Amino acid sequence: MSELEDFRASVRSWLEENAPKSIRGKVRDPALAYWGGRKTPLPFPEAKVWLDMMAEKGWTVPFWPKEYGGGGLNKEENKIFNQEMARLELPPPLTGFGITMIGPTVLQYGTEEQKKKYIGEIVRGEVRWCQGYSEPNAGSDLANIQTKAVVDGDDYILNGQKIWTSYGDLADWMFLLVRTDPGVKKQVGITFLLLDMETKGVEVRPIKLISGNSPFCEVFFEDVRVPQKNVLNRVNGGWEVAKALLGHERTMIANAFGGRVAPEKAENPMEAAARKYIGFRDGKIADSVIRDRMAQNQMDESCFLLTVQRNSDNIKAGHRPGPETSIFKVYGTELNQRRMELMLSILGPECLGWEGEGFEQGELDLCRVWLRSRGNTLEGGTSEIQLNIIAKQVLGLPDK
Ligand SMILES: Cc1cc2nc3c(=O)[nH]c(=O)nc-3n(C[C@H](O)[C@H](O)[C@H](O)COP(=O)(O)OP(=O)(O)OC[C@H]3O[C@@H](n4cnc5c(N)ncnc54)[C@H](O)[C@@H]3O)c2cc1C
Repeated sequence: MSELEDFRASVRSWLEENAPKSIRGKVRDPALAYWGGRKTPLPFPEAKVWLDMMAEKGWTVPFWPKEYGGGGLNKEENKIFNQEMARLELPPPLTGFGITMIGPTVLQYGTEEQKKKYIGEIVRGEVRWCQGYSEPNAGSDLANIQTKAVVDGDDYILNGQKIWTSYGDLADWMFLLVRTDPGVKKQVGITFLLLDMETKGVEVRPIKLISGNSPFCEVFFEDVRVPQKNVLNRVNGGWEVAKALLGHERTMIANAFGGRVAPEKAENPMEAAARKYIGFRDGKIADSVIRDRMAQNQMDESCFLLTVQRNSDNIKAGHRPGPETSIFKVYGTELNQRRMELMLSILGPECLGWEGEGFEQGELDLCRVWLRSRGNTLEGGTSEIQLNIIAKQVLGLPDK
């Protein structure tokens, strides 16, 4: 047997022996995603045991360097690892902004001490991170952030506010942008900081949405002390780090919403819905317009999936995502919205239920997933902003 075949055999037998039976075949189930940290509830009873076992082997982030707790797998081994996870249709043991955003950024910009601490905590799922970028007057114009950080001895003193902080109430640490020099061009006076959410003076207020859920928070800082050693990269060098992290964020959003992996064994949910709500005639979906839209959708999804997989493979092999990730972000999120609109056409009014009798649980769930998809073209930077980036930084078109 070749070394790679040996590797496959050992991954396969280890997963067969250790992966919890209750999550096999459930790669599609978003309720099984485990975000780790000290405040997140367990999504299923064996989630923590499974996480610890996988972390021990470095398989929560298999392609990160072994010296910081990753699996140290090369491109081929990583591919095999993913194939073996897919074979049992296993959801990953850990997800979150640690793995997808701040981890790769710390690997790029962190000191040795920072990498040892933060990467180790991330791969073991000990810490859940949130993102402190947006402020009431800094969304698309992100460089306009006003949260102030002033030096006092070995610390910074923070005052200001963040908004739309996803799951700030469940996070243990925040990565954030602060203004350290108000007297220069706005991009130049920004520093990237790492903050323990338990620090005195941090107040998290969940924003209650019309749905009754609170996925977003406002976070207020009043005289919050942050050690200067928590600066990532250099003081006033935060804009470069912010943009690098956005490359990872946009890749993650494109992958999560646009590039879904379709397990071979499971029935395609769109086909299942068409079978149930439209029906088949002569072995085909009875509505020819829907049939045509579904075929187009499947072709678009397959092409996009191959594209983002190629991009992800390149990132795992050391490529640093740049402005081209805006292309994936726009296409992937708009593809997801089109997919949801098509599901709506298939289900018709059955997809418009919010609560109460008369709707099946799957229909109520789909309504929420459809509404959630509206946020895809805002989060991580709106589509308009991505198009500006593509025009200027990818195509090199003139600014004016
Ligand atoms: C689901 C979700 C999760 C989020 N999670 C987080 C999080 O965890 N942390 C965080 O920091 N933020 C988060 N955000 C906030 C997100 O980053 C901002 O909503 C986004 O950057 C847009 O900023 P804004 O809402 O202030 O809109 P604005 O910047 O006020 O934009 C309003 C409209 O004007 C358009 N516009 C603005 N400027 C231009 C321009 N120059 N050219 C063309 N059009 C323009 C925009 O495209 C948009 O349509 C999240 C948002 C969503 C929807």
